Amino acid sequence: MRVAIVGAGIGGPTLAYWLRRLGHEAVLFEKAPAPRTGGYLIDFWGLGYDLAERMGILPALTERGYLMQRLRMVDANGREEAGMNVVPLRRQLRGRFISIARADLASAILRACDGVQTHYGVSVDAVTEDHDRVRIALTNGVRETVDLLVGADGLHSKVRELVFGPEERFETSLGCYVAAFRLRDYPRRDELTYVSHTIPKRHVSRVALHGGETLVLLVCRSEVLEGGPPRESPKAALRRAFGDMKWEVPALLEGMNDVDDLYFDRVSQVHLPHWYSGRTALLGDAAACASLLAGEGTGLAMIEAYVLAGELNRFSGDVPRALASYEARLRPTVKAKQKAAVRFRGFFAPRTAIGLAVRDLAVNTFALPFVGKRLVTRAVRDELALPDYEHGESMQELHLPA
Ligand SMILES: Cc1cc2nc3c(=O)[nH]c(=O)nc-3n(C[C@H](O)[C@H](O)[C@H](O)COP(=O)(O)OP(=O)(O)OC[C@H]3O[C@@H](n4cnc5c(N)ncnc54)[C@H](O)[C@@H]3O)c2cc1C
Repeated sequence: MRVAIVGAGIGGPTLAYWLRRLGHEAVLFEKAPAPRTGGYLIDFWGLGYDLAERMGILPALTERGYLMQRLRMVDANGREEAGMNVVPLRRQLRGRFISIARADLASAILRACDGVQTHYGVSVDAVTEDHDRVRIALTNGVRETVDLLVGADGLHSKVRELVFGPEERFETSLGCYVAAFRLRDYPRRDELTYVSHTIPKRHVSRVALHGGETLVLLVCRSEVLEGGPPRESPKAALRRAFGDMKWEVPALLEGMNDVDDLYFDRVSQVHLPHWYSGRTALLGDAAACASLLAGEGTGLAMIEAYVLAGELNRFSGDVPRALASYEARLRPTVKAKQKAAVRFRGFFAPRTAIGLAVRDLAVNTFALPFVGKRLVTRAVRDELALPDYEHGESMQELHLPA
């Protein structure tokens, strides 16, 4: 079968990879003019990591990634008020935990897709269904007729808007904003350490990256940012929201002035009644974004891609049954991750000084070997076992929705 995939981030290329490996044809359409570089850092573990291993990309991840050592929460004067050594946690995950730029993970997956047609600078304009085919009109004027269209185009998915309806019907704000940018030659490094300063409703952190760069992450509650002057630029809004913070925040904001590539967005989740409609399916953030608070969005996007490819293959092109099975297999896991993410909001941006003290206490408690071990096991456990689609593992029969 031939599948058109919109979005060459994490989930899109993973789907293309597995479709090709299972003997199907995929074509990718990405609106960015070229593969993205830079961007924010992600923590990567669990089933996503297992899949990366099956795809043979772990060496590439190890080459570009970081084995983080420490988490330091500092006060206005840079003194540590809470902290944790993350090495024992990685050991507990048998070393299967890495931090890497999202763009580097995406590029490793894309390289593994070698041979899959990928069109950059192209998006989708219109979608129409025609019995057992779907027709798509692309922004470059080309028309494609395929067996399935997949929207892997992220939180603000265009495919979802065209086929399922406007974003506001499905997006739930978690009441925070996030910004991320990179600075070159920022003088303080603290290699392999997440260093952060939090005050009620606002969080700023920095991580030293390869090549003399530093990643800066800003998270704040929506009420701090909203209500500014009309047409305020993101940088101006961030300066207004974070401008009175101490520690290194004035220097980090100063550095932001010269940044061209600023990531800035609401922190949201996506909740849809179904991840497919006719011959269009969604995956990753487009289908069920859990937000950065889940810390596992890339793994989820990869798992969804793998299961979607596997179910399409397993049902030999019976697209409606394959899509129903894809969703039924994954929805409970994804819902649980979304729920857990909401509980994690207080970690980045506790509302009050008491909330912040509780957060610091929790981090210090987590650092105790016995407690940390138990909590980590619970926090990172995946309830799902990945099916083995290649070796025809006997498939558990699922109760599919009518
Ligand atoms: C600050 C931050 C920190 C995060 N930290 C973590 C973390 O620690 N661990 C983790 O696992 N996850 C983390 N995440 C979440 C993770 O990045 C996402 O869940 C994951 O990237 C989702 O993958 P995806 O393929 O669905 O979408 P994306 O990776 O967003 O890819 C979507 C792709 O579609 C393209 N696109 C968009 N619109 C169109 C269009 N109209 N036409 C064509 N192409 C289009 C985009 O350019 C992009 O290439 C974090 C997110 C943020 C914002």
